[in-house]
Amino acid sequence: MNAPSPCLNCGACCATFRVSFYWGETDACEGGLVPGHLTEQISPHLSCMQGTNQPVPRCTALMGTVGEGVRCNIYEQRSSSCRDFAWHGENGVANPDCQRARARHGLAPLPDDPLIPQVTPELIPIIAA
Ligand code: SF4
Repeated sequence: MNAPSPCLNCGACCATFRVSFYWGETDACEGGLVPGHLTEQISPHLSCMQGTNQPVPRCTALMGTVGEGVRCNIYEQRSSSCRDFAWHGENGVANPDCQRARARHGLAPLPDDPLIPQVTPELIPIIAA
């Protein structure tokens, strides 16, 4: 059985970064899923989730309390940016931005997955003078 996702009691990424994506992902466009009324146009080609384009970002679709219990109100309709953002260690891949978002909200870093390649001093090439 898979371990539960750490995102269920985190939500830091949804309250740290500007969540932008190609505007064609909104339901204003044929085939788009993201509810357009929850987005903001930020350039001719980009939209972002409302609430994330400000100095203290928090996506309007994020429900709950960061670091305690959260859910995305439009989970099935979320943008590619949301879908592509993995937690640190998901599938054995490091994500320093996940750790950065957690730190911004005073949350402890997620443990390093043993599958994440570690840079050890022995692996750092020595450049001869
Ligand atoms: S749409 Fe959902 S997953 Fe994406 S930033 Fe907002 S709350 Fe997070």
